Amino acid sequence: MKLVTRSQLGWPTSAAPSQSTARGVKVHYEGTAVSTKLLANHDACLNEWKSIRRSHLANTAENYSDVAYNFAACPHGYLLEGRGLRRRTGANGNAALNQAHYAVLGLVGSSGLTEPTDAMLGAIRDGIELLRKNGAGNEIRGHRDGYATACPGGPLYAWVKKGAPRPTSPTPSKPAPPAPTPAPAVPVEDPMPAPTTLHESVAGGPDLPAGEWTELPAAEDTAILRGPCTYDVAFTVALSGTGDASRVQFRFVHVDIATRRRSAALPVDVYVRGGDTGTQVSRRGSLPAGQYLKVEALAEGAGAAVIHRTVDGLVWR
Ligand SMILES: [Zn+2]
Ligand SMILES: [Zn+2]
Repeated sequence: MKLVTRSQLGWPTSAAPSQSTARGVKVHYEGTAVSTKLLANHDACLNEWKSIRRSHLANTAENYSDVAYNFAACPHGYLLEGRGLRRRTGANGNAALNQAHYAVLGLVGSSGLTEPTDAMLGAIRDGIELLRKNGAGNEIRGHRDGYATACPGGPLYAWVKKGAPRPTSPTPSKPAPPAPTPAPAVPVEDPMPAPTTLHESVAGGPDLPAGEWTELPAAEDTAILRGPCTYDVAFTVALSGTGDASRVQFRFVHVDIATRRRSAALPVDVYVRGGDTGTQVSRRGSLPAGQYLKVEALAEGAGAAVIHRTVDGLVWR
């Protein structure tokens, strides 16, 4: 699951009313024209989601306290947090309908971008499963079920009627171990250089105080990799004491060695786990000269401790 949290969106805690359970989840679409530019630019997805929240907050007729949906899903498979878990939606049409189901929005509309990508369907499914683990029953419906609206549009409604199955091809819900395939950033006309194998396994690690991004050193050197190179790496971490309700997030960061400037646009993998646990995050990418790659983790709740970490991967230089 690729979750973008409210804090990553720069939003405060939702002021929407709490609601611990519901019968299930209703799927929505935007119902307006949605630009196909979203397909090529994930920043446009984030801007779209922020502008939906702004328009809801400006809607004095509905008197919304927050964006109306619990989550949204973008064409690149990101699940974007809205009201989030255990909050009443404002999207389903009236108070009774809002109490009966939580709401997940697909970023497609009635013209322009109308067909959900497989990655988007996977992210909606991620949202449904996350809500099910947090009080939602098993029903999956469209907005139009029980309310006079075209929402969620033909393609999404057809998928809902099939039971909202997770697409079988792309968007794996868990990062796969690195595959020995050429990374896309290497030009095809160049002869493919042989990759170097990367393997470092280190016992121990830093404590992760709650609410602070903490760097996870791979070995003596804090940087996993230095550019220029193309990489496909997996970072496996054993964690202790994450507790039942803790969430630990990981992010890969490119840092410019000279300016210390950090790239902000890298994806974040988020895992919700309880107890002593292991997790793996992976990433493929290209590192320009003068930059290095590092991994950071953030624990919520009571914090956590790293008891072991391993870096595996392939590097093309
Ligand atoms: Zn709707
Ligand atoms: Zn996107």
